[in-house]
Order: sequence, then C-alpha cells, then structure tokens
Amino acid sequence: MNKIQLLSPAGSFDIAEAAFQYGADAIYVGVGQYNLRAHSPNFLPQDLPELMNLAKNHGKLVYVAVNIMPDQNQFSKMEQMFASIAENKAIPDAFIISDPGVLLLCKKYFPETALHLSTQTGTFNDYAIRFWKNQGVKRIIFPRELSLKQISELCSLKIVETEVFIHGAMCMSISGRCLMGAYIAQRHPNLGDCNQPCRFKYRISPSETNCKKNGEWFDVEECENESYILNSRDLCTLDILPEIINSGVNSLKIEGRNKSIHYVASVVKTYRAAIDSCLKNPSQYKVLQEWKTCLDRVEHRPYTTGFFCGELLLQEVFTSKASSNARIVGVVKAFLDGLPVIDVKNSFSANEMLEVLPVQSSLSSYKIELSQITDLNGNTINIAPSNRLIKACCKSNLRPGDMLRKVI
Ligand code: SF4
Repeated sequence: MNKIQLLSPAGSFDIAEAAFQYGADAIYVGVGQYNLRAHSPNFLPQDLPELMNLAKNHGKLVYVAVNIMPDQNQFSKMEQMFASIAENKAIPDAFIISDPGVLLLCKKYFPETALHLSTQTGTFNDYAIRFWKNQGVKRIIFPRELSLKQISELCSLKIVETEVFIHGAMCMSISGRCLMGAYIAQRHPNLGDCNQPCRFKYRISPSETNCKKNGEWFDVEECENESYILNSRDLCTLDILPEIINSGVNSLKIEGRNKSIHYVASVVKTYRAAIDSCLKNPSQYKVLQEWKTCLDRVEHRPYTTGFFCGELLLQEVFTSKASSNARIVGVVKAFLDGLPVIDVKNSFSANEMLEVLPVQSSLSSYKIELSQITDLNGNTINIAPSNRLIKACCKSNLRPGDMLRKVI
C-alpha cells in the first residue's frame, strides 16, 4: 500500500496543535476571509510565521485555502493579502485554490509554492486533470461525487497527486453548484458564506388555496419537529478505508475548519489508528468498536459512505439533526507541582466521571475521576469553571494534550 497523508482541518492554534499531536500529517487552514469558511475563526497573514513554526516543530505541513471565486473587488483585496504573506516570508507548503485568477495570483507572488485544486472546482475527468496540471496544479482534490471505481481509474493515470475527503459534512448538491444560501439569505457558497439552508427542518403542507386539487404545488415551510428533506448525512469511511487507500490517492482529508478541538482530536485520532492498522496489515483490517464509539462522541449527522460505493443513501429525512454523546470539559496543558493543569472548556464538578481521549496514539479512551480540583493557588473548588486553568488530583497518568470529556 502507498504512503498516505492524513490531512486535518484547523481553525485555531490550539486546534492545529491538537491535530498534529493526535496524528495528522498536515493541516489546512483559512487565512483572512478568502476561503470557503469565511465565518470560521480564520488565521491572519501575520499568524503564519508562528503557525509554520509550530508545524515545523512537529515535522508537519500547512496548506492555506484561498478557494473562493472572488469578484473584481475581492480580487484586489486578495492581492493585498498575498503581498502581506509574501512580506512575512512564512510561506505555506501549498495553497488550495479554485479560481483561475487566484491561481495566477499565487504564481505571481509564490512561484515555488505548490498549488492544490479545491474540490469546489469539480474535476471529474482526466482531460480536466491534464488541463489543471498544465496550469501548474500539483494536486487535485476530487469532488465527493466520484465513486471509488472512478477515483481508482483517475489515480492510475498518475497525472498529479490526488486527495479525497474521508470524513465530515457533505453538501446535498455538488459542492459549490448550489445557490440556495444566495437565494434565501443572499449568502453565497462560492464566497464561503453559505448559511446552510439545506440543514434546516422543512415541512411540506397543502396551502389553503392549493389543497383542493391533486397535482397542485405545495408550500414548503421550516418549522419545529419537521423533516430534514435536504440535509445530507455525514461522510464516514472507516468501513471502506482499505479500498480508498488502494485506489492510489495520496491524501485523505477530514472536513471541518469550523469544528471544535474535541471534534478534530477525536476524528484525527480515530483515522490515524485506522490508517496505521490498514497500512500494517491490510488483509487483517477490521473496524474496531472503539473507533466507532470515538466518532459517535463528536457532533455528527447519521453517517454514510457517500458516493464512494454508489449507494447514494445521503438523506435521513427524520433524523438528520446533528447530535453527539459527549462534551469536552478540558485539555491537559501542563504539569504544576506534579499535578495536571487543565484548561477548562466546559465546567464540570469534582468527582464527576469523565473520559480521557489520550493524545498517545497507542492508548484507547479510558474513564477517570478527578477526586480533588483546585485553582492554580491550590484552593479547593467544587466546580471547575469554563475558560479557567485548574489543577486536578488524579491517579492516572495524564499527559499534556490529553482531552477530558463528559459522556452524556
Ligand atoms: S445550502 Fe447546503 S448544499 Fe447548498 S452549498 Fe450550502 S451547505 Fe452546500
């Protein structure tokens, strides 16, 4: 089996660090507003030196998404951003682009930097791949709508590096070819501004004037307890990971630049373990229950293998609301006087039963009780308040980076 990259999203320094610690080979981030998660907590151009340094210390890579399709006004602002990145001299390992104009801009400011073509562009055939190769693209990120067979065929041509999404949210439309957000709320998907109306609940009901005759149009309304008729399930590919790796792709990508640190750590840890197991002994690969449990702990819609197997079972009309069965309560930051210092994300009480998501890849999740918690001055407290650092007494061997969560 070929060497393969696990690529994680990261919306902040903390998440980038967690992604590296939990096993990602590379991260992709947004810088400024010119990417398809314009409302995520993106990085600023001046953050790049520190981010690149962090990656270098971990021996990992950073890709910067600049994959909107800008109008003329946005284009000149993008140019200013590129100039500012070039000035800081902290150049990412690749830019993820989708617009040909942005491709030219990248070449102008960063002629040596790799270009990856966003899934947003929709590259479905070998002529399109050759076209983009001729423009200097090093890697194509395939659309989620390709089947495994199609991916294998395209990869076997070895024209450029290839990447596929293996986990996370999916659009009910072909990515980017959807104007629902623009139509309903003037928020455009190709500018990273979609308000995701496909995730809303809807109801189809006969209107007073139209209910008399069969075949009349029905109104579609959003209201409580009604159907998620447009809401795609989330992608999960643990069951078909060996086939995906065998297809010859170079990079496996996790969706979710606006996802939490707990989400990123859990999903990266799970796929790191699954990929390693697959590469070690493909014929013995088996999806472990603990991997499935870990992916159930994070917020998700019902899972699907998407278009890979051609099943097209993408909508779960009545149960597509995202849910999770755990909530992160803290991250171990360091040790003080021999005790773990925990950065509390959500408040919890002393003696509550918690679960540890260990940063060490060989360790599985385990239960823990923090018998005594104190503030940093050593004063005992009963409740650990959110957004504070606390110290905890516990018998187990916590490590910096370990996450604590409450199973609900
Ligand atoms: S409305 Fe839904 S399907 Fe359309 S672009 Fe937004 S997230 Fe994708």
